[in-house]
Amino acid sequence: MERQSNLKIGINIQSPKNNFVKEILRRAQLNNIDISEDVDTYSDNLRLKLLYISPQKGFIRPCPCSKKYRCCGYFTIDTIEGCIFECEYCILRSFIDSSKILIKADVDEMLSELNQFTSSLSKKGLRVRIGTGELSDSLALEHIIPFAPILIETTKNTDKVILEFKTKSDNVEEILELPHHPLTTISFSMTSTYLHQRLEIGTSSPTQRLLAAKRCTAHSYRVGFHFDPIIYYRDYVQDYEMIIRELASLIPLDAISWISLGTIRFNPIMLDKFTSDLLFGEYIMDKEKKMRYPLRLRIRMYKTILDLLRTYLGDKIKVYLCMELDMVNELILGKKFENNYVLSKYITNV
Ligand code: SF4
Repeated sequence: MERQSNLKIGINIQSPKNNFVKEILRRAQLNNIDISEDVDTYSDNLRLKLLYISPQKGFIRPCPCSKKYRCCGYFTIDTIEGCIFECEYCILRSFIDSSKILIKADVDEMLSELNQFTSSLSKKGLRVRIGTGELSDSLALEHIIPFAPILIETTKNTDKVILEFKTKSDNVEEILELPHHPLTTISFSMTSTYLHQRLEIGTSSPTQRLLAAKRCTAHSYRVGFHFDPIIYYRDYVQDYEMIIRELASLIPLDAISWISLGTIRFNPIMLDKFTSDLLFGEYIMDKEKKMRYPLRLRIRMYKTILDLLRTYLGDKIKVYLCMELDMVNELILGKKFENNYVLSKYITNV
């Protein structure tokens, strides 16, 4: 991953003044990142990303899944809102100002919410997945904003949550040596090398992500892979096959927690923002007013990718579909998830 020279830290009177913020400022200096108190008059400059040290509270919430699709019961910890990467298809572009990234630095509040959350799960006898990768990339900024060590330390003795970091970076150095729960999972979004070059500006290449995943497994972390969004183009089968073959050659199968598949979906206003011809496909608007590929194309693509996964990784690897219809789950996976709890249990039973 390229180290970003286009970052600036923004801090003002409302920013928390705790040790976590002191550490961020220390790292900013080490990385030659400017620190600015001129946050309120900051004007959009697409070349520059302002990391605003925010007092905003409210960290944990259920993943905003749709009622029309089978939901996997995921919970998110919103530590950072906004992303330094610039994936052309990124759904955040439809509702977050990409030039100003919110760093929710009130870590005491975050830990208090997390502790309350895990104790409520204990009372209910539940175990859920929880992660920071919903409104940002989980690890892209880890060398400056070290949320991961705090979360790893806090969850290392509980069986009630499976902590997951989702990333398109290879920025794993900070966490490799940390004592962690055996189920803590570092997940990598996967795509073809061609799609990475065309659509995922600033991210690590799929091969770099796989090498980072391999290093995580060497330090006893579990790893996950999210083939999401899967995007159709003429040579997608051979290109995805290449990366799946590479995955199989690098990653020990027994270290893989799960692999998810999801075809591209987005808010219709994104259509005006797309510039790549790769994204000018045939879409339908679903009942949730999201654009996605027509059913027959989704089914064909899921079958194709799943066949490749089974060919190279065998049939023991746990695969699930992200936000899909029950009938698609049944058709592709041969599994009936009667309710969200059943799907959640299928995934968390690692
Ligand atoms: S890495 Fe994820 S959050 Fe960041 S721009 Fe890409 S899709 Fe969006």
